[in-house]
Amino acid sequence: YFIDVLVTRGSTDVDLYDFCKEPCGATLKCDHKCLGTCSACYQGRIHAKCAEKCGVPLVCNHECTDPCRQACKPCQKKCIYRCPHDRCDRKCGQECTPCAHPCDRNCDHQQCAKKCGEICTVPPCEEPCDKRLKCGHPCVGFCGDPCPTLCRICDQEELTEIFFGDEDEPDARFVQLKDCGHVLESKGLNSWFMQTDNEIQVKACPKCKSPVIETLRFSDYLKQAMLDVEKVKRKLNGTYNDNEMKRLELHKKLSNINLKVKERTPLIKPFMQALLKRITRLPSASELNAIQAKIQILEHIAKLCQVDNNDDFFKEIFGLTRVNNISYLIEGKRVINQVKMIMNVLENDRDDRISDQEIDDINQELTRLQRIVQFERIVASKHYAQVKTIVAEHVRIIENNLFSKLRYTNEVDANIMENLKELNTQAASEVQITEAERLNIVRAMGMYKGHWFKCPKGHVYAIEDCGDAATPGKCNECGA
Ligand SMILES: [Zn+2]
Ligand SMILES: [Zn+2]
Ligand SMILES: [Zn+2]
Ligand SMILES: [Zn+2]
Ligand SMILES: [Zn+2]
Ligand SMILES: [Zn+2]
Ligand SMILES: [Zn+2]
Ligand SMILES: [Zn+2]
Repeated sequence: YFIDVLVTRGSTDVDLYDFCKEPCGATLKCDHKCLGTCSACYQGRIHAKCAEKCGVPLVCNHECTDPCRQACKPCQKKCIYRCPHDRCDRKCGQECTPCAHPCDRNCDHQQCAKKCGEICTVPPCEEPCDKRLKCGHPCVGFCGDPCPTLCRICDQEELTEIFFGDEDEPDARFVQLKDCGHVLESKGLNSWFMQTDNEIQVKACPKCKSPVIETLRFSDYLKQAMLDVEKVKRKLNGTYNDNEMKRLELHKKLSNINLKVKERTPLIKPFMQALLKRITRLPSASELNAIQAKIQILEHIAKLCQVDNNDDFFKEIFGLTRVNNISYLIEGKRVINQVKMIMNVLENDRDDRISDQEIDDINQELTRLQRIVQFERIVASKHYAQVKTIVAEHVRIIENNLFSKLRYTNEVDANIMENLKELNTQAASEVQITEAERLNIVRAMGMYKGHWFKCPKGHVYAIEDCGDAATPGKCNECGA
């Protein structure tokens, strides 16, 4: 589809497709090698999305299954949350509904007054279990816990094998992790689950590393870990009210632009209408974010192509082709071709995120558009025809760089800007030739590849992965 669209558009686009079809191979901002072809990457101007696997562990301990992005999407796997009464059947990245059953932490000695999904009011019972195992020997567990399946006498070797250190003490008490079945010494386990470096993580069995969520005795730590994970999910997904407000704002903005776009602009009209349709109902936070970025880019294109504060920009740029002047018609087409190329990228991007690479690439192409518009305005100005032969060399340099199939860079832009200034002076055309206006395209907000931490005040924040060990940085809400 991507390729078909390119081929059916104007001649410049066919060149961008046909010029080179070899594998691209450029190093992308994510440090992966680009797996697109030069055709799919618009000759390196706007790279195809990175196709490498992400594989970073998310806060829920699942591996990110997305193709590479600089920001991971909320987890799409089945949720890990479960308790003795229930298990969550949502997607892992969505917030869970905490269990409302009365807490199971109760025995003859004490009773927790809270619900299962809340932090307990009483510590786990420290009395030894008074039950006997099938073998007739006393249980090695605690009161209130399910009895561990290993016996101090019958399974002596397995049970007292040193792991934490106190396993062979005659009064050692053991806990069987409900999640993985390992039977481990209770004091050692307790300090294992207690330890925290403020990093938010699902607790794991010290022996097999599988997630521990349900084991009642340690539910203080386990529930707290899950509540922290929930906070991260909330941060990634945004609150309903915030998202809805943002949606309404974007909808209004887009409707306004849409009103100004004449029906005869077949390229932009369907795109706008498709976008409008996507925000009729509230999409996911990440999709909302991507739509916001696209609207930003549209508005920027509008601004770049605007003449004399005339709001009706699409009429301006698409109106150019109707001017009764052949050479002007061809040159107006070059503005349109560039707009088409950028629109083509936005239109074919059905994904709900924008990567740093795309932000970079699109920004370069917006700068190219800015220069094309300036160039066309000078060329169309009153006195240009009179100086045409004098400025021929400047025009040659500008055209070679501006309409080259190669990637636009800051160096190329500096060169073009110098020549445009000269051209502008010679033709007395009074077009403003200013520094490139870099658009601050909204990034995938709140979504990071990296580690999540909790500050002393309980806020959650992410630190982007920068190589080796993750170090807790500063909380971006309170600075602690
Ligand atoms: Zn990548
Ligand atoms: Zn590429
Ligand atoms: Zn997950
Ligand atoms: Zn429950
Ligand atoms: Zn859940
Ligand atoms: Zn409880
Ligand atoms: Zn008890
Ligand atoms: Zn027992």
